[in-house]
Amino acid sequence: PNSLLSNVGTTIFTVMSALAVQHGSINLGQGFPDTDGPEDVLRTAAEALLDGRNQYPPMTGVPELRRAVAATNARFYGLEVDPDSEVVVTSGATEAITASLMALVNPGDEVVLIEPLYDTYLPVVRLLGAIPRLVRLTPPKWELPRAELAAAFGPKTKAILLNTPMNPTGKVFTGAELAFIAELLQKHDAYAICDEVYEHLTFDGWKHIPLMTLPGLRDRCLRIGSAGKTFSLTGWKVGYITAPKALAAVAAKAHQNLVFTTPPNLQRAVAVGLGKDDAYFAQLSADLAARRDRLSEGLARIGFTVLPVQGSYFVTADFRPLGFNGDDVAFCRHITEQAGVTAIPVTAFYEGAAPNHFARFAFCKRPEVLDEAVARLVRHF
Ligand code: PMP
Ligand code: GLN
Repeated sequence: PNSLLSNVGTTIFTVMSALAVQHGSINLGQGFPDTDGPEDVLRTAAEALLDGRNQYPPMTGVPELRRAVAATNARFYGLEVDPDSEVVVTSGATEAITASLMALVNPGDEVVLIEPLYDTYLPVVRLLGAIPRLVRLTPPKWELPRAELAAAFGPKTKAILLNTPMNPTGKVFTGAELAFIAELLQKHDAYAICDEVYEHLTFDGWKHIPLMTLPGLRDRCLRIGSAGKTFSLTGWKVGYITAPKALAAVAAKAHQNLVFTTPPNLQRAVAVGLGKDDAYFAQLSADLAARRDRLSEGLARIGFTVLPVQGSYFVTADFRPLGFNGDDVAFCRHITEQAGVTAIPVTAFYEGAAPNHFARFAFCKRPEVLDEAVARLVRHF
């Protein structure tokens, strides 16, 4: 049929994961850990299933999880949040992003987006009839081009969709960059959808700052988190929106019409997870930082120019020094088929012509798997 989705392709993550399976390749493409999340969280989910927690839970989320989301907002960011009216539990951050956009935009509204961007943003903005205004970050520094960002805002701007810590760059936006964005939002009376799924995955003392905590922005932000990343359970698809009451109420209407509710046993388990002590969160990022270093050092030994990473699951690497003759799509296909290691081409995160000599590698894997991936690349190049 000819529909609004006719021009939307299959996501690069599905494409590359299928190719990895086909070639028995180590999948450092799609970002998912290869070990399970915490035992107590898993056990709570299993017990809740057997306990008969299997019918529709409350539409905006089970009370335990809404309270836990509010408590972590207070614990980590000093944000006071009403669990009854300012939290909406969703089926993953993916649904939260769509619900937040649905809550804000009308056809013809403009939404400012920063490239490289996560692959659901553009199709959803367009499905809603809104107009994307793209601003680009460029490697190797991924600095916010302030004049271009300011120029992307105008009388039709309804919102910015901001991802920090950022996929695929691993960039963590600084307080100064966020303050600049905050000023633009206030000047243009606009909102922010804050994709903060990697909020707890920052390294080397970098701290994630929610845009929502900046002066004047408490009522302009829908802040999105994901249990998938915070508890290494990406298949669970439990996300949460924190937003002022008026916005949360509209996002809840979107949720009501998209999926209505999210599995209750998983919600109860995630509530237990969010109650974990600070040591859990510190260990999570320390483990990932060590894996980032392991993979980055391995790739650098092979000859890649590896860019610095402050947060997320991902490292991006310039493969030109290896002398490969082709673009990033060809490179990622080549290493999957010939070396047995899969990565994601960074052009997948841009629209149109883009830097085409970077591959994104996920380091959220067991150390021995990262070592084997590096060994395979060493043998090949
Ligand atoms: N946003 C970003 C930036 C992501 O990398 C991901 C990764 N999956 C998501 C959203 C989706 O999160 P979820 O799996 O909770 O839907
Ligand atoms: N967020 C993950 C990534 O960027 C993948 C999510 C997906 O497969 N849709 O790799």
